Amino acid sequence: MKDKDCIFCKIAAGEIPSATLYEDEDFRVILDLSPASKGHALILPKEHYRNLYDIDEETAAKAFVLAKKMVKKMTDVLGCDGYNVVQNNEEAAGQTVFHFHMHLIPRYKGDNVGLGWKMGELTDADKEEILKKIK
Ligand code: 5GP
Ligand code: ZN
Repeated sequence: MKDKDCIFCKIAAGEIPSATLYEDEDFRVILDLSPASKGHALILPKEHYRNLYDIDEETAAKAFVLAKKMVKKMTDVLGCDGYNVVQNNEEAAGQTVFHFHMHLIPRYKGDNVGLGWKMGELTDADKEEILKKIK
């Protein structure tokens, strides 16, 4: 299904031009307009899914296999030193475009890309609560 108001549906369908690195029947991979680093790309499924909560398992699996292929290829193309694969779900997690996408962010030694978090500490209370609820 497509969403007629979704910009990534239009980009994935080729209705809005984009810098396309790769395309097949299920996905388009494009350069991000506001890159965190040189070569920052986005994997977009051609069908509309809001995010990881509602993407179907087959497409999710294919997206990760494609991420692996793109990372390998783009490392050769860019000569980067590593990669972050980032995928945001819902506003609280930084999602701003509500069409599933995976960020492929090349990393270069000494770059100042601001990904990461302040490390906390796993408390016994949190650990016990979570382990009890997950069972
Ligand atoms: P999010 O914050 O939802 O995980 O990521 C959205 C990403 O889409 C951002 O990195 C933003 O720069 C990128 N983006 C938003 N609109 C466009 C667009 O029209 N074209 C391209 N190529 N990237 C876009
Ligand atoms: Zn969409």
